[in-house]
Amino acid sequence: MKDKVAELLPEGGNLNLCLTCGLCSSGCPATGLEGMDPRKFLRMAALGMDEEILKSDWPWMCTMCQRCIYACPMKINIPQLTFYTRQQRPRDERPKGILGSCNMALQNDSLSAMGASSEDFQFVVEDVLEEYQEAQPEFKDMEAPIDKQGAEFFLNQNSREPVTEPDEMTPLWKILHLAGVDWTYGSKGWAGENYCLFMADDQGWEHITRTTIGQAESLGCKTYLNTE
Ligand code: SF4
Ligand code: SF4
Repeated sequence: MKDKVAELLPEGGNLNLCLTCGLCSSGCPATGLEGMDPRKFLRMAALGMDEEILKSDWPWMCTMCQRCIYACPMKINIPQLTFYTRQQRPRDERPKGILGSCNMALQNDSLSAMGASSEDFQFVVEDVLEEYQEAQPEFKDMEAPIDKQGAEFFLNQNSREPVTEPDEMTPLWKILHLAGVDWTYGSKGWAGENYCLFMADDQGWEHITRTTIGQAESLGCKTYLNTE
């Protein structure tokens, strides 16, 4: 861990470069959780307290917002260190919720962390669209296409909406409709969440990204819109 910290410090990794000023901790949303904050975490890593920091759940509470880097006078990359720390934990011992969601997304081409298939998604989208076209005549021509070849924008969607709150998909459809945007979902890669990223699973993260971008490219879409 000490070597990793050295890589994250500018100019050859002099650990004295951390001024222990605490600016990183002052604006960090994870400060105080698990009795930890970014300054303390960095100091523990720099002091070689690997066992203690590997046991801590705090690295899983870092949002990767990078606010600490912005605040740090030495621009020390603490989120990179928390990401690396996550990778040191055996895969099956990582937080169950994130692990289960990442594993589920890797099992289907929809990439849905909730296990919703492409067929389920298509059914819900068509059903909700029809309902709104009928109930709100001003939107009778609104579209929510899936696999529209050559659409300008490829859009993804957090699978929580089609699975638990399907009506929540429509505000964006309405905006795109009123703005005259040419867009499409993909039958593959429509799910926008990426829990493998939070799991620090680089291979899973890459698989998810390649699958969804691959679908956008195969449809000839020019712009990829990630709603997450
Ligand atoms: S803001 Fe930077 S220099 Fe200050 S304590 Fe945090 S890591 Fe060290
Ligand atoms: S990146 Fe992590 S450590 Fe840095 S401010 Fe955000 S939550 Fe805190």
